[in-house]
Amino acid sequence: MYYVEDGCERCGYYECQKCHTRFLSQYIAPVCKCPDCDNEVDMEIGPDDEMAEETTSAKLIEVIEGKENVEKYDKLLSLAITGGDYDWL
Ligand SMILES: [Zn+2]
Repeated sequence: MYYVEDGCERCGYYECQKCHTRFLSQYIAPVCKCPDCDNEVDMEIGPDDEMAEETTSAKLIEVIEGKENVEKYDKLLSLAITGGDYDWL
């Protein structure tokens, strides 16, 4: 498991509106922080009020429910990042 804890049965599937990174999080909300954009802010600019808002740029696409579905998405997204072969079902 790359994004969520082993045995997770419910998570949110997000896509960042800025960098188009797709990721899973056990934190479910209409929007959440993009791990990639959030890192850039921390390292280069430092958080301020305006940027803090911009880091909530990832929108919830879907809530994934069920351990098997969570594992499937986790695997697909992990392969996409590492450049392996994968099929979007
Ligand atoms: Zn992003």
